[in-house]
Parts: sequence; structure tokens; C-alpha cells
Amino acid sequence: MQSHPRFWAKYALHSALLFCAYYFSAQWALDVYAVHQFAAPIWPPSGIALTALFFGGYRLWPAIAFAAFFVNYSLEAPLLAAIGVALGNTLEAWIACYLLKSLRFSPLLNKLSDSVGFIATAFSAPFISAVIGPTVLLLFNVVTRQDLPLTSITWWIGDVLGILVLAPFLLRWFSRSVFDMRRTIPLAVEAIVFFIITIVISILIFLDPIPQFSAYSLPYLVFIPLTWGALRIGPRFVTSAIVIVAAIATMGTLINLGQLVATSSKNELVLLQLFLINVSTIFLLFVAAVEERKETNVILRKNVESLKKDVSKMSSEDRAKNEFIAILSHELRNPLAPVLSSLELMRLDTAASPAIRESIDAMQGHINRITRLLDDLLDITRISQKKFTLDMKKVDLRAIVEHSTAMTEDTFKKRSQVLSATLPQDPLLVYADPLRLEQVVVNLLNNAAKYTELGGRISVLLERVATGAEIRIRDSGIGIERNKQREIFEPFRQVNGSDGKGLGIGLSLAKRFVELHSGTISVESEGLGRGSEFIVFLPLAPSERETNPVQSSQKSSGANSVPKALSAPTSVPQLMGGSNTERKTRSVLIVDSDTDTANTMGNILTYAGHTTKVAYGVRSALQTLALFRPEMILLAVDFPGEASKNLALKIRREVKPIPLIVALAQKVELNGKEQILSSDFDFTLVKPVSIADLEFILTKYAHG
Ligand code: ADP
Repeated sequence: MQSHPRFWAKYALHSALLFCAYYFSAQWALDVYAVHQFAAPIWPPSGIALTALFFGGYRLWPAIAFAAFFVNYSLEAPLLAAIGVALGNTLEAWIACYLLKSLRFSPLLNKLSDSVGFIATAFSAPFISAVIGPTVLLLFNVVTRQDLPLTSITWWIGDVLGILVLAPFLLRWFSRSVFDMRRTIPLAVEAIVFFIITIVISILIFLDPIPQFSAYSLPYLVFIPLTWGALRIGPRFVTSAIVIVAAIATMGTLINLGQLVATSSKNELVLLQLFLINVSTIFLLFVAAVEERKETNVILRKNVESLKKDVSKMSSEDRAKNEFIAILSHELRNPLAPVLSSLELMRLDTAASPAIRESIDAMQGHINRITRLLDDLLDITRISQKKFTLDMKKVDLRAIVEHSTAMTEDTFKKRSQVLSATLPQDPLLVYADPLRLEQVVVNLLNNAAKYTELGGRISVLLERVATGAEIRIRDSGIGIERNKQREIFEPFRQVNGSDGKGLGIGLSLAKRFVELHSGTISVESEGLGRGSEFIVFLPLAPSERETNPVQSSQKSSGANSVPKALSAPTSVPQLMGGSNTERKTRSVLIVDSDTDTANTMGNILTYAGHTTKVAYGVRSALQTLALFRPEMILLAVDFPGEASKNLALKIRREVKPIPLIVALAQKVELNGKEQILSSDFDFTLVKPVSIADLEFILTKYAHG
């Protein structure tokens, strides 16, 4: 490649151009003003040489050497002196280029580190020629010993300025960076205005066209347009503007020099040099800092964008996962209803042996536990999907605690644990969703049973405190280490080797429910083996006057102790046992598209001595109703659309006497819809429905 004629042609062309640029700019600089014949206060060739080597490669050095030689030789330096000076100049360019390359300098000048590296190079590399040049001239008696320091300093400053002012402009314009086309036109307009203003201000300051102004020296006014350029227009134009300012300022100084005597003219020249060094250094740093900030902003914005995308992807995945868990728990829960009903039916078989009864009990216990877990899981997903609404009303906390203890009675009995409850005399009214509060208390009670040894003691205390009410559930169980007491309220967190005893969601759910009621939940335990106390705090209802508290006299398995909607399956149907004197044969129609559920429920009610019919759809229900007048209709509400609601309305309108219409809902369908359902139905029962609930409603409400 290197031997190719085109390469040499290009090399020759570049060398010739560099030679001319160097030679003529040097002639111009020396013509303009030289302290000594050989040292000019601004030496553009140093900037040109550096740029040429930076882009064209070190191999262009002969052009620099020859040009420098001829400049000096034409100034009548001795041949050897001219060679020496030329070598010094070449070496300076070579070293400056080497420094920039090793600093990985980018000519785009849009990074602070690049500007700092460049400025350091501009100040240091010229030492080489400022030492070599004058020394050689001294050796050949071209410069006297007295003149040496001034010559050296002028040489150095001249080269520094040549690099500092001219090189950034050349480097930026020769660097192959693309214009941003979208920005080009408005930018060009702004840049032109910027240049015009810079030129006008520079002329006003440095050329003194208006005599009244010439009394003032206001060179720092150029900071105004340069700041604008640095903030808005970028390095390409700022470096150009610095060249313009330098050119006009030099021109002005030279005009003045013509008019002034030599001594003060020297001062003026030094001031000019210092000023240009200042301007160049400050704005090279400034523009780079601004560019760097702009670039950082762009990167930040990009990162924020991609983060946003990630977050939205994650949250859509999370949503999908929640959806999946919700569907899964729903689907797992559905088949439990007929199983539970069948178990109830089997339990009614008086001929069954004690062993069989025991297995039925065990199965019922397990299924109840699974149902509870699935319900908790569903609730957790609903809360995190923000699909959760509370059915708030004024309730007496005593009723909630009583109902919860009644619901967990069996659990304690089975574990031979002693449960004691202390409730206040007067009602403690809170504004709450009774179903959810009950879930909280039942959860805490179940945990107390679970994490306390057989035969242990559990106590429940409900009391009024200064600003609200507190439910304290204390057990004598395994306790919780102090440093774990916080984390047990996080989802899926289990401590103290409680694996296998649950999913670790009970407490996190309890916490969320309590917080939805503006309350708090906390735990106190003195450590492992020393029992735990869970404390639920709830604010009292704002005004207790117009209250309609849940009657605290309503007891455990009563279906209406929590109004309208019933919670998880209640226990053994005491009411089936015949002890109830009100019991008589009733007629019931069950409408459910889930044939298993419909059939088992039908079987149980038939077995219990009631007249029962089953329909699997709205049409067959209406057909049945033409001949059969039930006292109660159990209507599943999971028919598509409004079917069950419409059916309920139709029955109310057309069937006389109007039967008791009970909605059979999946827990998932209930969520916040209790109110809606309650307008069309007399009761809402949550599947799986226990015989106790059905019997309770039948005896108490059917036909008044
Ligand atoms: P689960 O009981 O299903 O594991 P929870 O969220 O109800 O989940 O409880 C989280 C953890 O808190 C339990 O695994 C257990 O380690 C601890 N814990 C809860 N209640 C008690 C208690 N009464 N005594 C001791 N530890 C408890």
C-alpha cells in the first residue's frame, strides 16, 4: 500500500500544503511583529504543525522541518543555526502530537479531560523549541546573552498561543464528525448570528472605531458572546470565534503599536498575549464541560428510557404472574367445593365407623386449610393488582373477635390448647370491612395455634386504648427472635424453621389489611421459646352515635354474624343434629352450571330431609320453576354476563310467593361486589358452602 504511487502523490500533496501553510503563516507572524527577528508573539505555525501531524501522521515531519528551515534561513540565520531552529520546531510538533495521542485526545473537544490534556500539551511542548531555538541562535551569535531570556519567553508564549488558539479550531474542523442534520439549519442560523455579534463586539473593543469608547478598555466583553457559544452552539464554533477574537485583537494591538512608542507597546503586547491565553483556556474548558454535560444528559435520558422500558416490561410480567396466580388459585379452589360438600354428606352417614369419621374430619381439616391458603393467595394478588376494595361499615370489634375465636375453636381443641378471650363490656366500634378484619384475627389465631406446642395457652385481649382499639393475641409458643420480628410481615417470609407449615403470606396479608384500615400490626416476643404477642391497632370510628353495630350476641357458626356475605366454610353442622326445634322440611332449588357442586349440594339437602331440585342453567331453572315453587333458591353467580342477576330479578317479578334468593359466589367474584349482589339477592354465600350455613338461613329466614 505504502509503495503505491497514489500514496506518494497524496503524501507529496499533503507535505506541500503543510509546507506552504507553515511557511507563509510564519512569514506573516514575523512580519507582523517580532521581538527579535526570530521570535513572534503569536506563532500560528505551531498550531498548524501539530494539527498536520495529528491527522496526517508523524511522517509529515519533513515538511515542517523544511518550512521552518527556510523561514529562518530567509531571515539570514546561518545555515546550521537555521537547521537547529528547524529541528527544535519539528520536535515540538512531534512531541505535542505524541502527548495528545498518548492521552487519547479526541479532537471533538467535547470532554473536559480532552480539554485539560490539550491545554497541558499546549503549555508544555513549546518549551522544547523555546529552549533549542534561542540556544542555537546564541551559539551562532544571532542573539545576545542579554536578549536570550526575552527571546526565549516570547518564543514560548508565541508557540503556546499558536497551539492554544489555532490548533483547537483546526482540529475541530478537520475532525471527521458528522453534522446532526436535524440541528444543522437552526444551528447554522444561530451560529451566523453568533459570529456576527462576536465580530462586532471584537471590533468595538479592539479596533476602537468609535473615538468616545477608546478611553475604555473592555476586552472582557467578548466573554458574553463566547459564553453564549459555549452554552448553545458547541466547540466547533467556539474555537472558530476564539480565532476571530484573537485575529481582531491582534490587528487592533498592531494598529496601536504603529501609533505608540516602543516601551509601552511591549506592555500592550504582553497584555494581549495574556488575554488570549485566558480566553482560550477558559473557553476550551467551558465548552468541553458544557458538551460533556449535554452528552451525560443524553446518556442519562437514554438510560432512563431503557429503564422505563424495563420497568414496564417487569410490571407487565408481574401483572401476568399475578393474573396467573389469581387464576390458578381460583381454579384450584373451585373443585374443593363439591369435595367439601361430599365430605359433609359422608359425615351424615350415621353408620360410618369412628375410623371413617376421623378420616373425614382430617380431610375436611386439610381442605379447609387449602381453601384458606388459596384465599390468602388470591387476596395478596388482588391487593398488589390494586383491584382490592373494602366493604366498609361500622362494626363492633367484639363481634369480630368472638366470631374469629369461634371459627378457630376446633383448631385449638384439636391441639389441646387453651384459648381465653377478654372482651370489654361496651361496644368498640370501628369503621371497617368485617370480613377482612375477621380474616386478620383468624390468621393470627391460627398462627398462634400453629406455632404453640400442644397444650399451650393462647389469650385474646380486646381493649380500648387512647386513640383506638387494640387486639392482643398472645401465645406461649416458640416465639420469634428479635431481629426477625420485622421480616415476618414480608410476603413469603418464614422464620424459626416454620417451613412446611404455610406459605408465609398470612402475616403480610394481615398487615396489608390492617393498613388498609389505617391501623398497625406489630409483634412482641422476648425471643425463641418465650411466646409471642401480636398487636393489632385500629382507629375507632369517627362518631359512635348513629351506629348499627353487629350484634355481639350472634355466635360462632351463625351465618349472619358477618352480615350479608359469609366467609370461609364454617365447621360441623350442629344444626343438622335435630337439636333445633325450628327444623322442618323445606323446598330448595339449586342453580349452578358446575354440575358436581349442584349435585352434591342437592344430595346433602335431600339427605337432610329437604325437597331439592337442581338446574344447571338459566333456561332449565325457569322450566323447573314453572312446576316447582321452592322456598329458597341457591343461585350461582358465576354465569356469564348478567345472567344470574337477570334471573334473580325475573324470579322476584314472576314467582309468587317470592322465594329466598341466595347468591353462591366464588370468593374471587365477591371482592367488593357484596353491595351489588346484596341488592338483588337476600344473601350471599361464599363457596364452598357448608350445610350449617344453608340450614341457618333456611330455618331463620325462609318465609319470614
Ligand atoms: P406462615 O405461617 O404461613 O408461614 P405467616 O405470614 O402467617 O406465614 O407467618 C410468617 C412467619 O412468622 C411464620 O413462618 C413464623 O415463622 C412466624 N410466626 C407467625 N406467627 C407466629 C407465632 N405466633 N409465633 C411464632 N412465630 C410466628
